[in-house]
Formats: sequence, structure tokens, C-alpha cells
Amino acid sequence: MTRTASCQCGQLSLAVEGEPALVSVCNCTRCQKRSGSAFSVSSRWSSSQVRDRAGKGLTYSRKGASGGTVQFLFCPQCGSTVSTSLELLPDVIGIPVGCFADPAFPGPKVAAWCESKLEWVQFPEGLLLLRDQSQPMETP
Ligand SMILES: [Zn+2]
Ligand SMILES: [Zn+2]
Repeated sequence: MTRTASCQCGQLSLAVEGEPALVSVCNCTRCQKRSGSAFSVSSRWSSSQVRDRAGKGLTYSRKGASGGTVQFLFCPQCGSTVSTSLELLPDVIGIPVGCFADPAFPGPKVAAWCESKLEWVQFPEGLLLLRDQSQPMETP
């Protein structure tokens, strides 16, 4: 199965093949600021699953809260982030689930950084809630 993730204006896109290795929610304050939302939802892929990348992108890098550098690829026209990568997980590409605009996209298994979760947010039963930062869960 091939899925295409794109920014809101459609200029920047990438295609991925197969299924995501993990779908996770992140409640960290950086994800809240980046997305402008209560939390981010991200899918993890191995870089070999990524097919065509089309359009122009810019990157923003910062220090990851779990260590290493986090890099974001975003559309210079509309600002949407279409992929993220972590220095700590070099073979992994993160793609925000919203970029697929697919109601049938698999749901999250894990919610990270629950200590900064907005108080009103309640995740479905069965979701693994992580509080400690021992894993580089932040993003992707
Ligand atoms: Zn765009
Ligand atoms: Zn985060």
C-alpha cells in the first residue's frame, strides 16, 4: 500500500510504502507549539519505505529533549511540517498523521510526554501512556 503525505497547500509531498512501524501521540510543549494543537500525532517509517518526495521544503533543527538533534521538513509556502527526523534514530522518518488526511489511518499505540498533557485530554483505553523520557519518543 502506498500513502501520500502532503502539506496543506499541496506543494510538498512524500509517498510511503507499507505500514507505519509505530503511530504515537506526543504531548510535549514543543509539539504543542509546532502543531498549534493540544498534541501531535506522528507515524514512524523506516527511510527505505519513503518513495517520491516532491516540492520544495525547508528544514528547521533544534536540540531534542531526549538528546541529539531533531529536524523538521516543512513547506516554505504554507508552513506545514511533512516529516521529522531524529539524530538518535537515523533510519527513521516521522510523518505527522494529519498530512495523510486519511480517516482510516491506523490509530496511536503510545502517548508520550504525558506530564505536559493538557488536563482535559483523555486518551482511549489501551493506549500506553509514557511519562519518563528514557526513550526518544518525542518526535517522530
Ligand atoms: Zn504547503
Ligand atoms: Zn513532542
